[in-house]
Amino acid sequence: MDLKDMSVPLSFIQGVMERMEMILAAQAQKGQPLTWTESREGLLMRHIFSRLNAISKPNVGFRTAFVPQAYPPCTLPFSALTKIMLKDLRLETHHKGKYLILRCIVPSYRLINVMSIVEDECGDVIMLTLRHQDESRSWDEILGCGMILAVKEPYLRRMSDGTNGIIVDHVSNYKHISMKDNLTPDRWQERPPECYEKATTCNITGKELAKENMHFSAISSSYTEGLSRCPTEEELCTLKLNRSEAYFMTDHLESALLDIESVEKMSKPEDNLLLDKARVLYEMQKFREYCDTLKPLAVKDPKNEELRKKLQRGIDRLIEQERGRYKFSKLYDEVTMLRPPVLDHATYIGPVAVKSADHRGRGLFTTKEVKAGDLLLCEKALGLAFVDTSAPNYRGTLLVNAQQGTATIGGQVDLLTIMIQKLQKNPSLIPVISELHHGSYEPVGVSFVDDAPVVDTFLIEKVLSLNIFACPLTTRDCWFGSITKNDVRINKSNAKLGSCGLWKVASYINHSCNINAQRSFIGDMIIVRASRDLAPDTEVFTGYDMPSADGYDELQKKFQHYGFECDCAICQDYRDTDKETHIKRNRLIAAASEEIERLTRSKTAKAEAIVERLAACYTKPALEVPRLGLWDIQFQLAEKYSIYFKPEKIVEFGLKSLESLGYVIQGGEIPCESVTLKVIQWGLMMPLVLRCWALLSLSYHLVAPELEGQAKAYAKITYRVCIGEDETFDKAYRELLL
Ligand SMILES: [Zn+2]
Repeated sequence: MDLKDMSVPLSFIQGVMERMEMILAAQAQKGQPLTWTESREGLLMRHIFSRLNAISKPNVGFRTAFVPQAYPPCTLPFSALTKIMLKDLRLETHHKGKYLILRCIVPSYRLINVMSIVEDECGDVIMLTLRHQDESRSWDEILGCGMILAVKEPYLRRMSDGTNGIIVDHVSNYKHISMKDNLTPDRWQERPPECYEKATTCNITGKELAKENMHFSAISSSYTEGLSRCPTEEELCTLKLNRSEAYFMTDHLESALLDIESVEKMSKPEDNLLLDKARVLYEMQKFREYCDTLKPLAVKDPKNEELRKKLQRGIDRLIEQERGRYKFSKLYDEVTMLRPPVLDHATYIGPVAVKSADHRGRGLFTTKEVKAGDLLLCEKALGLAFVDTSAPNYRGTLLVNAQQGTATIGGQVDLLTIMIQKLQKNPSLIPVISELHHGSYEPVGVSFVDDAPVVDTFLIEKVLSLNIFACPLTTRDCWFGSITKNDVRINKSNAKLGSCGLWKVASYINHSCNINAQRSFIGDMIIVRASRDLAPDTEVFTGYDMPSADGYDELQKKFQHYGFECDCAICQDYRDTDKETHIKRNRLIAAASEEIERLTRSKTAKAEAIVERLAACYTKPALEVPRLGLWDIQFQLAEKYSIYFKPEKIVEFGLKSLESLGYVIQGGEIPCESVTLKVIQWGLMMPLVLRCWALLSLSYHLVAPELEGQAKAYAKITYRVCIGEDETFDKAYRELLL
C-alpha cells in the first residue's frame, strides 16, 4: 500500500486538528451520563439547516471521516439483549448486551454517513449516524421519516461538532423493524390495513416500489412480507422471482441465486428463469456454470443470435479464467469507457499457490517452473475505489485516525464502505476477507446472528489498511509516460494517486526490494508477472516501494505500518556494509553524477574513471546483491552517450549497468564476437531497464545489426513484465526511442 498525501488547504487541516482534539478530549468523559445541551426544537432546527446545506452544496470541499476506537460488532440475537432508553446511556461507552428502539422523526441527509434525528419511546431525541451505507440508495430509503430501528449494543459518542450522538459503526448492528414487529413499542404500533394484505397484493406493491427504484424496500416490506402470507404455489414462484430480480438489482447476488434455484427445483424451469439464473451466475463470476446453463438453450434455439452472443461472452471469460489468455486491447478499451473502471473480465490464477512463508506469515509460491515475463496471475479486484482527481466534481476524502494521529487522502474511506456493503450483501465473502492478514486484530468468529450476516467494520478496516494497493488507471499510461520523460529515478508516478483496491490472491504476495515479480494494473485488474526465471516452489516477491541506493532508512519506516523489517539481500547488505564504505559510495555517486552532467563528446575519461572507482566499492557479487547506486550511474552514462551518438559506449555501459543489477548476459560486447545475445540470468527489474534495452537495440542497429532484434526481444519481455502485456509494445517502443 502506498497512498501518498496530496495538497490540502491549510484552513481545512486546522479544522480537522480541532475536531481531532475534541474527539480525544471527549474520551476523558467516558462513562458520564448523557445530558441534553439542546432542546428538541433546537436539535431539529439545526438538523434541518445542515440538511439544506448538504442538498444545496453536495460537491464542495474535502470530506473527512474519523476512525473511531475499535469495538466488536454484536454477535448476540435481540432475544439475548435487554432494552435501554436514551436517558440511561453513558458517554463514550459501548453498551454491551443492550439495544435501543428508535424512531426517525425528520428526513435524513448524507455527507459521508447518513444522519437523522431519532426519538425513543420516552420522547427523548438524539442524532443518529449510520456509517457505511450503500451509496446507490436514497437517504429516505436508508433512514426515512417514521422508520423504526432497533440498534444493538449502541455506542454513544461525543461528535466532532461537539454534540452527542449515536453512531452505528457496524452495519449489522441495526435493523429496520415493522409496526407489527414484537420489538416495536406498543404505543407506536398501528395496525395499518396492509397488515392484512394477501400475498398477491404484496407482490403488486413490491413491483410498484421496484419501478420507483426502491428495490430494498420492495425486498423487505413487500416480497418477503408476501412470502409469509401463505401464498399459493404460483404466488410463491412469482414473489420469489420478483424478489430475485430486486436482489439482483441491489447486488445481493447470493440471495438472488437462492431464490431462482428454489423456484427452479419446484417444476421444470422455463427458459426465462434459466436466462435470469445465467445473468446472476455471470455477475458472480461463475463462468463455467453460466455456460452450462446457457448451452442447452442455445442448442434448442440455434438461430437465436442474442443467445449465441451471451454464450460466447461466457466462453471468452472461461478462456481468461482457465488459460490466462486475455485480449488486452479490449481491457484498455473498457478502461476508457467505464467509470469506475470495473472491467468485464475474469480472474486467472496461474502457477502460484498461497503457502506458509515462515516468519513472513503466508506468501505466494510458484507451483511450477516459470520464465521471466510469464503471467502468474491476472486478478479482478474484490473492491475498487476509483478516485478521479481530474473530474470536475472531485472531492478529496481525508481518513483521520485520531488515536494514531494519522491522516490519509484517497479512496480508502470509499473502499471501506464498498467492501462492507459487498460483504453484507454476499456473506460467503466474509471468511475470504477474515482470512487475509489482519495483524493483531481479533475477529469475532460469528458470521450470522438473527438470520443476518455479522460484518465487522473494524476488521475490514484493518484488513484494508494492511492489504490494499494504490493503483493507477493503467500502468501503461502512468508509468510509461514517466519512463519516456526520463524522470522515473524519483518514481513520482504514484504520488498523485487516490484510487485503491483489494485483490485477494495478490494481497498474499510479500515485499522484497529484490523483487522477482512485478505488478501492474489495467482498471480493476492487477497483473503479476515473473521478472526472473523462477524454479518451482519459489516465493514470489513484489516491491511495496522502489528501493534506492540511499533511501534505506526511509524505506524501512514505510514498512513499520506493516510490522516488518525488510531482510532482502539489498537491505541485509546495506546493514552489513560499514559506514565508511557508504560514505565513500555516496561521495563517488555524487561526483560521478556531476561529472556525467559536465561530460562532453571528447572529455569522457574523468567520468569513466570515477565510475570505475565506484564499482570498486562493491565487493559482493551483483548476482547476489544488486548494486543500485552503480547501476544508476552506469545507466546515466549510457544515456549521456546516446546524446553524443556513441553506440559502442552506450553498449558498454548499458551492459555494465544491467550486470550491476544482477543480469548475466552472454554476447553483445562490441566488437562483436558472436551473433547471439543471451540473458542467461535476469537481474533486478527496474523501470529504466526497459529504456536500457531500447538504447542497446538502437545502438546495435548501428554497430552490430544482427543483435538489434535480439535486444528488442528482451525489451519486449521487459515491457511485458512492467506493463503487464506486450500487445501495445510496438507502438510504445517507437515512442520510447524518440
Ligand atoms: Zn529490502
